[in-house]
Amino acid sequence: MADNTFCRKLVERIKASDLWVSGKSKEGGRHLSGLKCPECGHAEASAYVEGPFAILCSRKNSCGARVRTLELFPELIEKVERDFKPTPDDPHRPAREYLYSRGLTNKSLEGLRFEYRRDIRKCGSGGVLFYVGVNSAGKEVWNGRIFAPPQGIDKGHNSGATAGVYWRHPGLVYDPNRPTFIKEGVIDALSLIEMGLQAIAVLSSVQDPSKLDLGGLEKNLVIAFDPDHAGCEGLRKWIAVYPSAKSMIHVEGDSNDLLRSRAPGKAREAFDAAIPEMKCRARLALAEKAQDYAEIFYDFYGFPPGLFEFQKSYWFSGVMKDQVYAQRVSNFTCAVDHYALDASNPENPVNKYHLCVKPVDGKPTYCTITGPELTHPWSLRSALLTYARALWEGEAKATMSLASRIIQAKSPVVRQVHVLGHDEASNCVVFRDFLIDPDGKMLEPDAKGFFRASRKEFLGPPKFQTVLPKSGESLSRIYQLINGAWPNNGALAIAFAVASWFVWTVKPTLGFFPFLSLHGDPQTGKSYLVRRLNAMQALDEEGLPMTKLNTGKGEIRQLAQRSGLFKALLEGNKAETLRFDLETILTLYNAGNPLQVRAIRDNGLGTLLTQFQSSLIFVQNKEPFKSKAQMERVVSSAPFKVDDINGSSTDAFRAVQRIPIREMAWCYVETMRHRRDIEAEWYEGYVRARNEILDAVPDNRIAENHGLMLCFHRIAEKIFGAKLDLRPFLTALAERKHRQCNHRQANLADHFFEAVDEIAPKTSKEFVCLDDGKMYVRMALALKSLDGNGYKFYAAQLYQELKEHPAFVTSNVNKRAYWGEEMTDSVQKVWIFDANKLDVEEGPLEGMGA
Ligand SMILES: [Zn+2]
Repeated sequence: MADNTFCRKLVERIKASDLWVSGKSKEGGRHLSGLKCPECGHAEASAYVEGPFAILCSRKNSCGARVRTLELFPELIEKVERDFKPTPDDPHRPAREYLYSRGLTNKSLEGLRFEYRRDIRKCGSGGVLFYVGVNSAGKEVWNGRIFAPPQGIDKGHNSGATAGVYWRHPGLVYDPNRPTFIKEGVIDALSLIEMGLQAIAVLSSVQDPSKLDLGGLEKNLVIAFDPDHAGCEGLRKWIAVYPSAKSMIHVEGDSNDLLRSRAPGKAREAFDAAIPEMKCRARLALAEKAQDYAEIFYDFYGFPPGLFEFQKSYWFSGVMKDQVYAQRVSNFTCAVDHYALDASNPENPVNKYHLCVKPVDGKPTYCTITGPELTHPWSLRSALLTYARALWEGEAKATMSLASRIIQAKSPVVRQVHVLGHDEASNCVVFRDFLIDPDGKMLEPDAKGFFRASRKEFLGPPKFQTVLPKSGESLSRIYQLINGAWPNNGALAIAFAVASWFVWTVKPTLGFFPFLSLHGDPQTGKSYLVRRLNAMQALDEEGLPMTKLNTGKGEIRQLAQRSGLFKALLEGNKAETLRFDLETILTLYNAGNPLQVRAIRDNGLGTLLTQFQSSLIFVQNKEPFKSKAQMERVVSSAPFKVDDINGSSTDAFRAVQRIPIREMAWCYVETMRHRRDIEAEWYEGYVRARNEILDAVPDNRIAENHGLMLCFHRIAEKIFGAKLDLRPFLTALAERKHRQCNHRQANLADHFFEAVDEIAPKTSKEFVCLDDGKMYVRMALALKSLDGNGYKFYAAQLYQELKEHPAFVTSNVNKRAYWGEEMTDSVQKVWIFDANKLDVEEGPLEGMGA
């Protein structure tokens, strides 16, 4: 056991996992104790140090779970070849460590002839092969299994035809007078040998027993095949050839499961204790008639079997007038493929049952039934007739038995995820085509399209189109090109994207999350930058046009349908002024501000808060943020300028365009691979970065927002392998923001001027004219025109603010001018403003050469 390093590795893995509860769990002598039970969650489970293959819950009455440890940590098997590399002295090391992982020790491996083979059938995983013998064609036969076969690849592997040959342990002297157990697989047979029994493996249940030379062992055989259909058929065949053979079928799992679920050296006791029941199971498997089955069962257990499967149908058995009876109740059997859980309304989650219905003859059908359909014989009959063309004839008792069997089946629960990105309940990040688990590992969906989030929970992916990432272009080059095409702004945008991927942890910790604004000249590739950033988060989209946001709740809902990702809001092609309620959107800066409150349908009183767990990038030519409160929630890029575009930025831009979208998406996978570290360390980095900005800009909020960007820039630098000091740039942005915010606040009057600026050209300027540095406005007509174009101002408040505006000269005076297109020269009542004082915005950002 000394060189059984696998067990030690498994112990260390348990200690590093969340099964290990600090202060409660400990390693002492032969046990790990005080472990968190994976089923009930109480720290009352244990495992054996010498064979930690099962986590055993000691709460016998309320839980008593035995959970296979390697099901919790399947990566240990996947990595067995890497963790225990073969060496020249020990070329079969991965195979031996794998056998250790199956609970086998040097006791059963002594004298065993086995080999490690790499990349079996080119499936990417190696395996262990056992020497069987030479077949009738004179060829060596090896049989074994692949360590970690990829999805859809069978785990068994043969080299050489196995017909007519079987495996016996080359290091064991077989005694014909002792019972010899016949198993299908070598590892099963080795498990019995480990328990001190004598066993051979016939490699397949379809092996013809009459063609095998058992060399004297046939005198005392125990046929112990798997309890599945093929195993039962095999059992019949063997009994036909060897009528005096005994037979046994495991009550639960196989002999290797039994070996690994008991204390080292204690499996034999459990095996011996189960012999009578295993014999009964074999008799049940051999029963000719359902009535025989019911009687065998009743004789052994003392009660009738109730609902049971016999020859591909269900039968119901009870006792009437001291007589056991059995009655056929269906022409099918069924299995629960999975449970579908829709928890989008947390107060009333809905369960559905996905069944695989197997008719006596014909192909299986998959269908979904609901709780109400399971409650009555007639509703179940009707549902199965409708969905699966299957006939259920059971009465109330049989129906209840089937229902409870369906409810208690140990099938996976599949929870449908509705939000794209971070799923709070599982702490996984879920896309349609892949998932990132809490450790940062990327998983692809299984054959049914589900993700295995944990041992018991599967996730149904959200229905949004996403991109399946693929490695290719290096992250450092992607970074370099983006920052080459948009100097500093590119790096800022990447920092913001990376921060956005952690909104769910940043926002609750800090209580806020800033917005990003990309603004500046048209034709500088702002929208394209956003498109590439979206590709980096595995989305093939640009963003949501801002002008659409006011059209309905649908767009608002789009913002709620993602978490831990950013969404871009784009200004339309025409310079349309923002019409949605910027003020409402900007309250989403703070944690806990719901996006929308919606009534829960089934419950008249309840409401559901739709939390905003994503981030926003505003993309526009001219920033729409006016008030100090609005401006300070936004990190604004340096203005994008046509003048800054040069040969090298153009080359970088073209190179960025050429990177395939799936390779861009790999940035996300690589970043999330470090999620544990980022989640643990970002806060410290944030505090440091914020203080650095605060030294230059004495404004908490501005320093917080820009500090967060600096912190995530530094994280991105590490992950992308970039070298760029963004501190001077971010400090300059923060200083500029500080100046803007401390400038006079924009108010209703400024909005009025903006609106006039936009609407006047469309309305032939009939309500405004410019003359010698002054702006003359026919106020009543102006308000009417603006109203007609979607700008509603309330005159009283507007007049007040206009009079306080620095540009205000006077009101209600006469002005002779040419008004409108007709150029009618007339005298009108006007308000007069100083045209040079209309704009609240500052001049260009200084000291920020791109
Ligand atoms: Zn438990």
